[in-house]
Amino acid sequence: MLYLFLLLGFCKAQDTSYAHQVMYELSSKKYHGRGYYKRGAIRASKYIAQQMAEVGLEPMGQEGFYQSFPMQANVIKKTGLWINGTRLRNGVQFLPDCGNPTIKAIHTIPPSDIGVSILKVFKTSKEKDLREALEKSGEVLIVDTIQGGAVLGRRDVLMQAKRCGIKTIIWMSASDFNHSVSRLQNQISSYHVAYDKLPQSLLNIADWKSIKTKCKASVSEKRQKNVLGLIRGENTDSTLIVCGHYDHLGQVGKEAIFFGANDNACGIAMLLDIAKYFKRNTPKYNVLIIAFAGEEAGLIGSRYYVDHPKVSLSKTKFVLNLDLVGTGHKGMTVVNATIFPNYFKRLTEVNDRYHFLPQIKRRGKAANSDHYFFTEVGVPSFFGYFQGERTSYHDVFDTPESLPLDKYIDGRSLFIKFLEVI
Ligand SMILES: [Zn+2]
Repeated sequence: MLYLFLLLGFCKAQDTSYAHQVMYELSSKKYHGRGYYKRGAIRASKYIAQQMAEVGLEPMGQEGFYQSFPMQANVIKKTGLWINGTRLRNGVQFLPDCGNPTIKAIHTIPPSDIGVSILKVFKTSKEKDLREALEKSGEVLIVDTIQGGAVLGRRDVLMQAKRCGIKTIIWMSASDFNHSVSRLQNQISSYHVAYDKLPQSLLNIADWKSIKTKCKASVSEKRQKNVLGLIRGENTDSTLIVCGHYDHLGQVGKEAIFFGANDNACGIAMLLDIAKYFKRNTPKYNVLIIAFAGEEAGLIGSRYYVDHPKVSLSKTKFVLNLDLVGTGHKGMTVVNATIFPNYFKRLTEVNDRYHFLPQIKRRGKAANSDHYFFTEVGVPSFFGYFQGERTSYHDVFDTPESLPLDKYIDGRSLFIKFLEVI
């Protein structure tokens, strides 16, 4: 009996060892957050193609495993923010906006009684409040979004700020940053400051006397690459696509690396793991494995694939998109569940039978990952993302060390069994 438990334990360890290997590799510093800083995403595509070759997939790109497409992305090579002469920590205490242009600036803030431009965007705030704050502002506008939710959208603030000659905007927020990828550069430079991570001496915004900013950025125009490999099934008339994105937010300056372990190094590990399974167990239909690029910049890679499919879309039976699958003890949410109720029924039947995940929540349509453009052209698709305690999202704390992979094996088994019954 003990021997059996040990054996089962050993098998489980074996099962996640490949996932760990892939996830740690893709989340390592050499890929610079799999973005556009030092060609991080391109480097990652090579590793994934190599893994696909080792698993024994058939190359399905126009150039081996690669399908390349044009893309632009703003790359921030250097940055800094000093308040009252204190340099803040990039990625933790502050982050430049992803669309920042190259600008160096030193702003001296006038004493508060003649108008430190602290704009408190309360739930009740009106455009009039914004205008008043802007009129009192010098070159820098500090937007305090800590108390209450912002009613005025970021875009409204930016537009009016531009009109009033504001050069720099400081967005104060109380939680972790949510960085993203910008394909263009803004005209105004803006910085996000984490209020709860500031040193004691800077907590009172009214005491801020000077703000110095530095940003060096340029728009990269390097082609990006989807990575595609096929496993032939018993019936080669239909194809199931299992996909996930490997790109992430990259790196901002020398200090802030967005490792993207949960988003989505882990999904790529599961993708390759599923490929390994179907390589050993011939599937009913063809299985096309796709690691997409350009997701974080607006689903660019998957959109390109849908416009230039390698397998006719009319013969693509189903798309399963894996993104954010590193947790799971609170279950999974499935985007498109309400649009494709029959497929959802099959998924929950498998789960009810084997008790893989504690619950599967349904959600409607959402343009939040790579399944989206498939759905738009009529190909049935699901996007499953897991829930657990961990909340790091689009910040520098999304590291492999912080990821439990507690439902990784169960999740993978659920997806495999589901793909076998559809
Ligand atoms: Zn993602």
